[in-house]
Amino acid sequence: MTKRIISVFITFCMLLTFASCKNPTEEESDVSTTRSSGTAGATEASNTSQTSEPSASVSPTDTSETTCEPVPTVTETVPETVAATVITVAPTEVFQGEYLTVFISNSGESDKIEYDTKLAANWMIKTIPHEGGFLALIPIEWDKAPADYNLGIKVTRDGETAAETSEMVKVSKKDFEKHYIVVSEELAATRSDENFAKDGVYTSRARSATSSEPLWEGSFILPVEGARITCDYGLIRYVNNVVVGRHSGLDVSIAAGAPVMASNGGRVTLAMELIVTGNTIIIDHGMNIFTAYCHLSKMFVEQGDIVAKYDVIGEVGSTGFSTGPHLHWTFTIGETFVNPWLFMDKDPLDWLAPTE
Ligand SMILES: [Zn+2]
Repeated sequence: MTKRIISVFITFCMLLTFASCKNPTEEESDVSTTRSSGTAGATEASNTSQTSEPSASVSPTDTSETTCEPVPTVTETVPETVAATVITVAPTEVFQGEYLTVFISNSGESDKIEYDTKLAANWMIKTIPHEGGFLALIPIEWDKAPADYNLGIKVTRDGETAAETSEMVKVSKKDFEKHYIVVSEELAATRSDENFAKDGVYTSRARSATSSEPLWEGSFILPVEGARITCDYGLIRYVNNVVVGRHSGLDVSIAAGAPVMASNGGRVTLAMELIVTGNTIIIDHGMNIFTAYCHLSKMFVEQGDIVAKYDVIGEVGSTGFSTGPHLHWTFTIGETFVNPWLFMDKDPLDWLAPTE
C-alpha cells in the first residue's frame, strides 16, 4: 500500500516536472505572438524572436531544470568580415584660426558624405580620397564665435547609412593682439577693395585645385633662417589708426635678398606680381593645404614647378603693400587663412595617428 502511494507520488512528480519544462517554450511563443502584433509580416516577427533576447528568457530555466532535454543553443550567424567605415575627428578642442582633421576609413567614390555643422561653410570643406577612405580638413576662421559646435558627418552607401557621427567641437577664444602701423596715404590706398578683388582672381584660382596626395613630409619649416617674427597670425591690424582686418599670416623680418625656402614639398600654383602682396608664390601641398610667400624681390620658380622642403624659391623683398623688407607668409586650407604655427608644430596627418 505504502509502495503504491510512493509510486503514485513519483509519477505525479515526474508529470509535474514535465509540465514545468514545457513552460519556457510556451512563454517564448507568447513573446513572439506579442511581437508579431506589432510588426507587419509573420516572417519578420519570427525572425525577430529568433535573433533577439533568446538567451535572456530561456537560459535561466534551462539551468535550473536539469531533468529537461537541453534546449538547443542558438548560434548567431557571424556576418562576413567587411571592414567597417569609421569616422575619426581630431582634435575636438581648438582655438580660433585652427583646424580639424576628419578621416573616413573604408569609404569609396560612390559613397555620399554629408556635413552638418556650423563650424565652417560646406564649400570650405574639401573631402579628398586618402588611403582607402577620405580625408578632410575643416578650417576654423579667426573670428569664429567661441562656442561648442556640433559636427555631424554622415556616410551614405547604396541608399543606406554606412557611418554616422555627431561630435561636439569646442572652439575657444584666442587672444589676438592689436597691431598698429602708420603708412603714407598713397601706400594705404594700395589696400583698396578693388585691388584685393583683382589679386583675388589669381589667388582663388591658385587655391581652387589641390593634389589628392599629400605632397608634404613631416612638419613645415619657417621659410627664412635667422629671422624674427614681427607680426603674428590673426593680429587685429590698424593701418593709420583704422581697423583693416586681421593679419592673415606671419611677418618674418629679415634683410632684403635673404633666401626664401619652400616650407615643405608641393607644387607651385602661382608665381606672379600682385598689387597688394607684390611678387607672390603660392604652393599647393596637397589635401587642400597651401602656403603663400609675399613681397618677394625675386622669384625662382614658375607655376607648375614641383618643389621640395628647403628648396630656395625666391628672395625677401618689399614689393606690393609693404613698409620694408620682410616676408609675409600664410597658410590656408582652401581659401581660409589658418594659424601657421600649427603646421610647424605637427604634421597634419599626425592627428590621425593612434595616440599611445
Ligand atoms: Zn604681413
